Amino acid sequence: MSTATPLATVLIDGNNFYASCEALLDPAVLGRPLVVLSNNDGCIVSRSAEARALGIPMGAPFFQVRPQLERHGVIVRSSNYSLYGDMSQRLMATLESWVEELEVYSIDEAFGVLHRPRTSAGSGADLLAWGQALRQAVRQRLGLPVAVGIAPTKVLAKIANRLAKHSPSLPQPGVFDLGAVADPDPWLEAIAIEEVWGIGRRLSRWCRLRGIRDARQLRDMPSGELRLRCGVVGLRLQRELRGHPCLPLVSLPAAKKETCVSRSFSTPITTVAELREAIATYLSRAAEKLRRQRQCAGSLTVFVRSSPFSGRPFYSNAATITLPLASDDTAVLLAAALPLADRLFHPHHPLQKAGVLLQALQSANQLQHHLFSPLPAAQQARRESLLATIDALNARYGRGTIQWAACGLRSPWAMRRSRLSRSGTTRLEEVPVVWA
Ligand SMILES: [Mg+2]
Repeated sequence: MSTATPLATVLIDGNNFYASCEALLDPAVLGRPLVVLSNNDGCIVSRSAEARALGIPMGAPFFQVRPQLERHGVIVRSSNYSLYGDMSQRLMATLESWVEELEVYSIDEAFGVLHRPRTSAGSGADLLAWGQALRQAVRQRLGLPVAVGIAPTKVLAKIANRLAKHSPSLPQPGVFDLGAVADPDPWLEAIAIEEVWGIGRRLSRWCRLRGIRDARQLRDMPSGELRLRCGVVGLRLQRELRGHPCLPLVSLPAAKKETCVSRSFSTPITTVAELREAIATYLSRAAEKLRRQRQCAGSLTVFVRSSPFSGRPFYSNAATITLPLASDDTAVLLAAALPLADRLFHPHHPLQKAGVLLQALQSANQLQHHLFSPLPAAQQARRESLLATIDALNARYGRGTIQWAACGLRSPWAMRRSRLSRSGTTRLEEVPVVWA
């Protein structure tokens, strides 16, 4: 037996994250049912506990449940991604100091690794008190509720987190340590096969056909059968369920190979001028991302599509261009992208969505000064400082403070967000005021 202290994997996950962020800015909504809508105010993407209790379904189209929402006086908000993104960064910064290693998995979810303390008898102690202290710290510093799942592996930590959220009778509400229970079997049996992380819809159907209905049965089924059906991926999943870590933490984000900005339009686009403005807007956003990542794009793709529900023939198209020299300069990228927009536009197909994909990304530092560089070195340096200044101004005074004329001034096609809350944590003029 090894004498090293065993490692524990934890999954920390925000409860109703978007709805909780909304309540943070506006305490008047605390304790009241609230839902957050997806882009273009389309579907429900987050519900407060009170809205959930009313039986308002997740993912429901807004127009369908609107009468129900109005009847119950449910507060409706458009998604405010600058608020959620900012709160996410604060959450991750707090979590960083609570674990030995952190993997940010999604906007409101992170895996962490830490050593289990030892009991006097020499075995690994439970981490319930630690988990409870973490929840309190996050609640106190950020005002956000989180659930903490603790286990020997990532797949089990996901399960533990689910149990922490949905088991009402836990001694420490919101925290569950699957690595410290005497018998994990009844807990695993409470997790339906569809709820196991990494099990897709097809695999869960295959399992059901074989009588495998829950996580415990998946753990105990013959490995050979699983391997035949889904190879090493299935075996890894099963080993994780058995408590042997196979999925390492990914703490450093890999250098991105592509960057994409795309949006649905609030109203279909029917003129080439509007499409050019939309593409120019997305491209400026993508180029800004690129410069922040210190990367240049070697090629770019513009794509468009119509609505599959419009009753007209569906139209979807894309065009790619390779740049003679990789670039992060918005003007250079615009000159390449706008002719593609002209080519893809079709007068008989109102467009519902468009996007820009920057590809063949390479590090801006590695990029050698090209022999055929379009600009002399001094001019190139001036150009770079101009772009850096524009980015700094936009970061400081808000997106769109300075923009390319090609992006247009009024954008009737822009995302519908009619019920947007304030940017109370990222814009000075919208910071909440407290009278004391
Ligand atoms: Mg969550």
